Amino acid sequence: MAFPPTKLDIRPGLPHTALMKRIGILGGTFDPIHLGHLVPAQYACDFLRLDSLLLVPSASPVHRPQHHPASAEHRVNMCGLAATALPRFEVSEIETARPEPSYTALTLRSLRDALDPRVELVLLVGEDNLPLLHTWWHVKDILSLATIAVLPRPTPCPPDLGPLRAMLGGSAVDAIIARRVPGPLVPISATHVRSRLLAGLSIAGLVPRSVADYIAAHRLYAPCSPDSTTTTQSS
Ligand code: ATP
Repeated sequence: MAFPPTKLDIRPGLPHTALMKRIGILGGTFDPIHLGHLVPAQYACDFLRLDSLLLVPSASPVHRPQHHPASAEHRVNMCGLAATALPRFEVSEIETARPEPSYTALTLRSLRDALDPRVELVLLVGEDNLPLLHTWWHVKDILSLATIAVLPRPTPCPPDLGPLRAMLGGSAVDAIIARRVPGPLVPISATHVRSRLLAGLSIAGLVPRSVADYIAAHRLYAPCSPDSTTTTQSS
C-alpha cells in the first residue's frame, strides 16, 4: 500500500500498518443518542477495523430547520455518557463549538487539517441517508476527504440511488455500497425515543441506561420541558 496512503483501502481483513490510524466519524443530531446509532457503529468498528470512532453531534441540522433539538450541551453530554461504555468511542465537539451551521465537508476538512496525514478518515452514513447524499454540500469534496461506509438501517423501500450515481458515477457508488457494514438492523430512531418520552412511556432498551438517567434528570423531551424548544439545529 502507498504510504502515506492516497486512497483508503478498507477491504475487510486487510491489516493496516502499525503506523496508520483509521478513524470512523459518525455525525448526527443525536437528539438523543440511541442504540440504533451505537450498535451499528460498534459493528463498523470491527468490520472496518477502526482504531476509534468519533461521534460528532451537529450544532444545527441544516437539512431540518424545522427541528429544534435539545441543546448542544445536553446532546454532547449524552453522547459522552454513551461513549464511556464503548472503548473506541469518543465525542468530538468540532461542530457544536463553532457558531456556523454544521456541514460535513467542513468538519472533515478541519479534521483532515488537524490530523496526521497518515490518519485515514471513514465517514459512516446511515443507510437512510444514502439516497440523499447527492444533496449534501460539496459531496465530491467529502469523497476526497474520507471514505464513505454505510451503516445498515431498516428502510421502508430499497433506496433510489439513481441521483447519487448520476452525480458520483456508478463505480464510486458501488464502492460505497460494498462498504455496507454487515450487522443487525436496529429499528430505533431518535424521533421514536422522543415520542415515547412525550407520551410518558419508558425508553429502557432504546438508549443506554446512563442516557435514560440523564434524560430523566434533566427532564428532556418531556411535555413542556424547558429544553424541548431550545433552538439549535444536519450535513
Ligand atoms: P431523528 O429520528 O431525529 O431523525 P435519527 O434517529 O435518524 O434522528 P440522527 O442523529 O439523525 O438520528 O442520525 C445520525 C446518523 O446515524 C445518521 O447517519 C443516521 O442515518 C444514523 N442512524 C440513526 N439511527 C440509525 C439506526 N437505527 N440504524 C442505523 N443508522 C442509524
